[in-house]
Amino acid sequence: MSKKQKTLAVHAGSRLTGSKAVPVAPPVFPAAVNWFDSSEDLSDALDGKDFAYARISAPNASLLEEAVAALEGAEACVAYASGMAALRSVFDAQAWRPGDRLVMPADGYGVTRLLYKNLCARLGVELHALLLTDAQAPARIRELRPRMVLAESITNPLLRVPDLRALSHACGDAGAVFVVDATFPSPHGQRALSLGADYAVQSTSKWLNGHSDALGGTVSGSQARMAPLRAARILAGDVLGPFEAWLTLRGLRTLPVRMKAHAEHAAHVARRLEGSALLDRVIYPGLPSHPDHAVARELLEGGFGPMVAFEIKGGGRPEGDRFLEALRICKPGPSLGDVGTLVMHAASASARRMTPEEREAAGIRESLIRVSVGLEDPDDVADDLLQAVAKGARP
Ligand code: PLP
Repeated sequence: MSKKQKTLAVHAGSRLTGSKAVPVAPPVFPAAVNWFDSSEDLSDALDGKDFAYARISAPNASLLEEAVAALEGAEACVAYASGMAALRSVFDAQAWRPGDRLVMPADGYGVTRLLYKNLCARLGVELHALLLTDAQAPARIRELRPRMVLAESITNPLLRVPDLRALSHACGDAGAVFVVDATFPSPHGQRALSLGADYAVQSTSKWLNGHSDALGGTVSGSQARMAPLRAARILAGDVLGPFEAWLTLRGLRTLPVRMKAHAEHAAHVARRLEGSALLDRVIYPGLPSHPDHAVARELLEGGFGPMVAFEIKGGGRPEGDRFLEALRICKPGPSLGDVGTLVMHAASASARRMTPEEREAAGIRESLIRVSVGLEDPDDVADDLLQAVAKGARP
């Protein structure tokens, strides 16, 4: 059949034929829709056996899921448009009934706290925010018998390191599913599933991507637990786009070498900061002064992680603002996981959506600064932080 110009414009050049080349880097597949010569193949694809429509499954997200599952030591992984979408999907997958209980960290990420607070309120679920590093936390979980417990591997922003093994045993006794947000150490620094988690969550926007150029989230676990998430994602539509998945997979390729260097640099910066008379407290799981140093030694791999926090002596919001504006190398950016050092005033950024009472109970003071240590020379980073602290202290 001869084709006219308009038809050629729409259909010419849409198949790659005759090449046996295997690309070393995967191509980006932006197609939202694929068509099939055979109706049977199309029907199979609509059942999830091939790629039909990108809200059902798509090549770049699938490649990323395969890689993250491998790093997490999981049977399967489901990718989302953001870390928050991943946390939402895990919540939605539970068979909540009014009066059920959810346990989550009192000192964790403020946005997760607000999301779960809102979802619980809607369903009549009781939310119990606990300090999961307290020696009493496992006993409290056994007492409360919650349907779900969420922990953060290293809490945001206070960098506490809960004993996931003890919490997982308590969850087993209480009949609770155990969800671990392992964003801070990344799967390179901790494989939450091997410590008893049922679901391992990552905000891939952070270390897995590593370059601050794509949002994303993943949930990993058994095939049985991932299948309902995958089915629910088709309906909710919170899928990871092809460009974001491609960038994240590209970043993930260097995760182990980046995380080793980030942890070494963080340890160096923490030691340098510890000597400053302008700081009240330096928080790093690798310092013997850290309250969970012994747990961190056992549960974190390849060092003590890339995050450092500190409290500016007598520091409030004005000192924090002056400190951030005085930085010359480090960037005052409200995230973590970049190749460059990102610095944040905790109370006004990661804990912004917590109430003052919630921040107080968590121990998040106005003087608290969180640092995601980058790959610059660590002495340059420490020098920059210290000169900015000095400038922040003096109006
Ligand atoms: N979990 C933790 C520990 C985080 O710090 C964040 C974001 O800062 C999230 C989840 C949410 O991830 P996203 O920003 O990709 O939605």
